[in-house]
Amino acid sequence: MITFEDLKRELAINYGDRDINLVIKAFHFATEAHRGQLRRTGEDYIYHALATAYNLALMKMDLPTIAAGLLHDVPEDTDFTFDDIKKNFGSEVYTLVKGVTKLGHLKYRGLERYAENLRKMFLAMSQDLRVIIIKLADRRHNMETLDGVREEKRLRIAQETLEIFAPIANRLGMFRMKTELEDLAFPYVYPKEYAWVTGLMKDRLKSETKYIEKIQKETQKMLAKNDIHDAHITGRVKTLYSTYKKLLRKGKDINKIYDLIAVRIIVDDVADCYSILGLIHKRWTPLKGRVKDFIAQPKPNGYQSLHTSVFTDFGKVVEFQIRTKKMDDEAEYGIAAHSQYKEMGMFGKHKKNPRWLQHLVEIQKTITDNAEFIKHVKHDLFANQIFVFTPMGDVVELPEGSTPLDFAYYIHTDVGNQCIGAKINDHMSTLDTALKSGDVVEILTNKSRKYPNPDWIHMVKTGMAKSKIKGQLKK
Ligand code: MN
Repeated sequence: MITFEDLKRELAINYGDRDINLVIKAFHFATEAHRGQLRRTGEDYIYHALATAYNLALMKMDLPTIAAGLLHDVPEDTDFTFDDIKKNFGSEVYTLVKGVTKLGHLKYRGLERYAENLRKMFLAMSQDLRVIIIKLADRRHNMETLDGVREEKRLRIAQETLEIFAPIANRLGMFRMKTELEDLAFPYVYPKEYAWVTGLMKDRLKSETKYIEKIQKETQKMLAKNDIHDAHITGRVKTLYSTYKKLLRKGKDINKIYDLIAVRIIVDDVADCYSILGLIHKRWTPLKGRVKDFIAQPKPNGYQSLHTSVFTDFGKVVEFQIRTKKMDDEAEYGIAAHSQYKEMGMFGKHKKNPRWLQHLVEIQKTITDNAEFIKHVKHDLFANQIFVFTPMGDVVELPEGSTPLDFAYYIHTDVGNQCIGAKINDHMSTLDTALKSGDVVEILTNKSRKYPNPDWIHMVKTGMAKSKIKGQLKK
């Protein structure tokens, strides 16, 4: 159980020089408001608020967000009102608490209600992303205490976590949150598969832990010899649910998973990352096609790291992940850690939302049929993504199976409407070709064209392109 002392200790680390009175006041206020309320698990309600706020503090979120985390259930579950929150904590905290409350509890009560909740969520996210980050922290603690919930509700909550909240965390680059939510939901949603994967992992880890430790020591020695002394080397074990999903892709053969255990090397500066990669490749032979430079070419969600898989001694393959401390923080906490977003005012009034979120907001406005809306959201938000490039080298992230037309409409509605052809990797190709990760896509346009071809509706994969084409055809 997380206590107020724990929260204060965490705050002292990251906010040492700041006035944390707002958070202290929020704690006392929430304690009073929830006094006498117990959760189904038996503990005082305030511990749920504390766990939520603690999670936010771990992600180094700003103080108003942490205060809102403490207060997030007050207006809904106690005698205190939104006005009380506003009077005592000001309009920023008030807006956040209101945003979280408005999301309500995503209850599956048929299709209509489900669609309505998704629509609400995207609207709230587009107004202030901090709202969904609080919601994720709230959900994480609810998942940790899911055993205290009535049995018939458990499966539904766990399913929502897997299908909605984990993918959203993923899209926000919050990798730690994503994997934690998945692993918490896994045993409830797929109990048999969970037991199977846990068993497989246990056997494998037993035989591999010692071996990985040897590799770590060897690496440490090698780095020291080359005057790199401040590298932090750990072994990271692949999480259960992502192992499960990979097993399904690899014919259920655990021996085909190369990154079950990876060695992670964290250093202070970028130059060291590349030196270390060179040293590793000199010492062990890299696997062809497994060297990935996400530092020069970050993933669209911001992820940066060098990855390589090498044949170590005894012919075993090990993946190395090399990155700086800053990259590591951003990989773990995503948008919540991105100082750049904080500086740019990503949170709050003058924010600039990521493209995929802008698209979802657009879809929620233009597609009124609920069944179709859900289909598009699931597809655009949760499908496997590919990364393709513009001729200028900008990365565009699209769902698997997307075509040059999807790409064109992603760039701009006009580019879509005026499209007369496409080049993939400098070769002319048809507009319905499925793009692959790494493709460079160039759209040929004719400026005098105004409207899309009605047949195109069958050639696009994204809900975004479909809704744009439909909208244009109506005109
Ligand atoms: Mn809550």
